[in-house]
This record gives sequence, C-alpha cells and structure tokens, in this order.
Amino acid sequence: MKIHNFGAGPCILPQEVFKQAADGVLDLNGIGMSILEISHRSQDFDIIIKRAQSLVKELLGVPEGYSVLFLQGGASLQFSMIPMNFLPENGKAAYLDTGVWSYKAMKEAKLFGNPFAVASSKDKNYNYIPQNFEVPEDVAYFHITTNNTIYGTEIFEDYDVNVPLIADMSSDIFSRKIDVSKYDLIFAGAQKNMGPAGATLVIIKDEFLEKRARVIPTMLDYKTHVDKDSLFNTPPVFSIYVSMLNLEWLKAQGGVEAIEKKNIEKANLLYKTIEEHPLFTPNVAEDSHSRMNVTFTAINEDVEQRFLKACQENGIVAIKGHRDAGGFRASLYNALPLSSVKVLVEVMKGIQ
Ligand SMILES: *Cc1c(COP(=O)(O)O)cnc(C)c1O
Repeated sequence: MKIHNFGAGPCILPQEVFKQAADGVLDLNGIGMSILEISHRSQDFDIIIKRAQSLVKELLGVPEGYSVLFLQGGASLQFSMIPMNFLPENGKAAYLDTGVWSYKAMKEAKLFGNPFAVASSKDKNYNYIPQNFEVPEDVAYFHITTNNTIYGTEIFEDYDVNVPLIADMSSDIFSRKIDVSKYDLIFAGAQKNMGPAGATLVIIKDEFLEKRARVIPTMLDYKTHVDKDSLFNTPPVFSIYVSMLNLEWLKAQGGVEAIEKKNIEKANLLYKTIEEHPLFTPNVAEDSHSRMNVTFTAINEDVEQRFLKACQENGIVAIKGHRDAGGFRASLYNALPLSSVKVLVEVMKGIQ
C-alpha cells in the first residue's frame, strides 16, 4: 500500500532524494567510497558542503554579510547558544510566547540574563499569533518562532523591529519566501524541510557576531564556526549531504517561490475540507493558520476512532496530534505531494 506520511518531524523527504542518498551510501558519485567513510576534509566533501551553503543562499536570497552554518545539537541547542552568545548577564531579551518551542527557548535564556515575553497566546492554548505588541528597544534581541509545529500557527510577516531579530524557522524554512535581511539570526533543525536529523542550519549576520556578550566555550561560540566555515570539527556529514540533495530537488522544483504556491494549494484544500465538514473543526483561528502543520479536532470520540481507522486503511500515517495539543495534525511539508492531501481529504469526506 502507498504510504502518505503526515508526520511532523522527522518527516517525509522526496522519494528521489531517498534514492540518491541510498546510492551515496554505497558509492558516492562513482568514487568507489561511501559518503559515510570519506574524510570531512576531502575534496569530495568540500564540494558537497560548499554546494549546500550556496543552495541555502540562493534559495532564500541570503544577502551579503551573512554566514551559513551547519551545526549540531538540533534547534534545541540554539535555545542555549543564542543567549549564551548574545544576552549579557544583566541584559534583557524579548520573546514572543507562541508555544512550547518559544517557551523552551526562553527557559534557557533565564540561565544567562533576563528574558521576558512581550506577548503570549497561552490563554487559548496557543491557537493564535498575538498581534499589536511592542518590542522595547533596550533588549539584546527579539526571539520568535515562525511556525509553531505543535499548535499549527504561523507568522508570515518579517517583523520590522529596531532590535536584532532572531527566528526559529525549524518547521517552515524553505516553505515560503522570507526577507533574510530583516533577521540577525535564523536557525532550523534540518529534519523538517531541509534534510535528515543531524544538522542544524544557522544563518547569522556577521555584524551581529560582534555583539557576543561573554567568554564562550569554543564549540558553543558562533565565531568558531563562522571562522572555520562549519569545519572546526567533524560536521554531520550525512545530514549535510542529504540536505544538499534535497535543496537541489527544491531548486529543480522552481525554488521557494514555486513550492510556496504548492504549499498554499495543499493547505487551502485541507482547511476548506475541515471547515466545511460537520464533524471536524480547525484548532486555529484563520488568520494564524499554519501551512505546514494543520491541526484539527473531531467532534467526538466515535468520529475520532472511525477517522483513525479509515486513515489506517488508506495508508495515512502519523496524523495524530502532539500530546500537548490533542486531536489531529497533518503536516504538509515541501515533500508531501498534493496527491497525498487529496487522499486525506477523500478519507475525511467519507466520515459522515
Ligand atoms: C522540531 C522543532 C524544534 C526542535 O528541534 P530539535 O532539532 O529536535 O532540537 C524546535 N523548534 C521548532 C519550531 C520545531 O518545530
């Protein structure tokens, strides 16, 4: 049976990328060695990491004056590295509290200085993006989570603020156009839209590096990795390789602009189906709908069970909501084809 993987991460990547990755494990580009055994200092890997960096720059339109890094430790280590590098001991940092990931980021910042939430949507279990908040000018930075993977909300605006803007884009990077010049630091764990788990993408403005606030252990200091171009120590070679293959795939699809159109089409089809269905309701207010993670609830347990069974019978997997949000969550990342959304929509329509 064909599987339709709606998992939130790690998640689906294009089938042809899986195939190319498998080939590279056996014999990388005909060199007679596996991607898993070559040196990270070799010419063969140098070509791969440079290509991955240049694809990130090209696909996102990264301007001059930024460095593109592939680090380890996931998006979660960025929660610590950011305040460790940029939040002075008596300094303040502003956070937009849009759910678990922003909350976890703020918790780490408390170890280094004084973070606070400029606004929060906690009052409604994070089912909307706060509007009309003020970011004070005396903060070291303002931290946002552009897509809230668990709740299904998304920020589409590149905020104009007079302080350094930092964004966790783990679950919507490469899904839509962004204006990188508005940000001082963007980070994303690879395992949603970029590649397999292991690498963490960081795009950092070189000027921002000058604002480092204390003495930092070598591996946790962004400057180490900027100076050594992500090769201070052994980087996550395989994750970078497959990310490069996936970004080549994205480029061949027409890049971020083209995939954004497809993502809008997929999300619109699913939200429309949920809204028109008498037995399902969307979890999130329309103006905050995420295109990457669509969350919804069945009106009762019986509908829930029948829907889950129908999903199983049709190869639809990983559609249960996160334990903090309940209900259902359909993740529609770049690699999920419209045909899979159509199968889901038909299954939903069959539940009466
Ligand atoms: C998945 C996710 C994370 C956590 O990423 P790790 O790489 O597992 O640390 C952080 N932020 C957001 C928005 C996520 O979706």
